[in-house]
Amino acid sequence: MDTSIEFNIYGDASLLKEAQNVLTDLESEVSVTDPDSEIYKINQDGTGTLTGNAGDLMQEALEMCRRTDGALDISVYPIVRAWGFTTEEYQVPEETEIESLLPLVDYTKIQYDTATGTVSIPKGMTIDLGSIAKGCGGQLAAQLLREKGVTSALLNLGGNVQAIGSKPDGSPWQVGIQDPTGDTPMMVLSVSDQAVITSGGYERYFEQDGKTYWHIMDPSTGHPADSGLCSVTVVGKDGGICDALSTSLFVMGLEKAAALWQQSNDFEAVFVTDSHEVYITEGLKDCFALTEDHADTNVKVLEK
Ligand code: ADP
Ligand code: MG
Repeated sequence: MDTSIEFNIYGDASLLKEAQNVLTDLESEVSVTDPDSEIYKINQDGTGTLTGNAGDLMQEALEMCRRTDGALDISVYPIVRAWGFTTEEYQVPEETEIESLLPLVDYTKIQYDTATGTVSIPKGMTIDLGSIAKGCGGQLAAQLLREKGVTSALLNLGGNVQAIGSKPDGSPWQVGIQDPTGDTPMMVLSVSDQAVITSGGYERYFEQDGKTYWHIMDPSTGHPADSGLCSVTVVGKDGGICDALSTSLFVMGLEKAAALWQQSNDFEAVFVTDSHEVYITEGLKDCFALTEDHADTNVKVLEK
């Protein structure tokens, strides 16, 4: 999944391997670049079948595209590629190129038959489940570990954290959230049995002519999201939902993201704005703390 992975599991050591296999199996089904993956074949042929966890991932991804009104769009890949994020040969594309690619970005044209797992897409479209795969993978690994009786574990997939139970001593896990403009943790969330998933502009970006361009795209403009946020952390029971939301709330910006939170009951969130203000939703009030270095940060609580 193109990321560093760290698992701390309190239990039988063989479980590490099993949990890792869940991730590699999912990756081999949904990778955009592996010619043997089911998604790769669908992207090549315009049609194909998803099996097992990949099918569930697709269904969840499409649901989240609809729920976020297209702020999440799993067909945004041609845009991501045009900006060079797929090869790290970064560039600012010509506006005409972006305009020619935007018609290919429209998740509503993806046909997915949940009964058979068959997917059909229009010519030229590319499906990329990267914005949600790590969260779903973490969720599946956590599920497996819980079924095997694990009551204490912390899975970290490149900043996508999945907490199982609490620490072995019964106290909550402490998950640091990075300062989007620095290298140190800015705040700490105390959580048990929750996913904590962050999307930040600082994770992958390039600079050109004094401007920063990052890897989270606004599917409506074909440009990197420019919503006034520089990081979004989503906390909830379902890692897949949290991952999808972290990307899409980043695209939406604070106002729309807060409105979506107000209508929902399956997540809480932390927003850091470009001007370094922090907003937390009220459900996190009692498990949130700034680190010492950032103690003077202004934190506002969003209420329902
Ligand atoms: P990361 O995977 O780096 O933790 P995200 O979960 O936020 O970060 O996913 C970002 C990845 O998803 C990008 O690298 C890109 O491939 C893809 N992507 C970017 N913008 C969108 C979007 N609006 N909707 C769906 N996928 C996106
Ligand atoms: Mg995400």
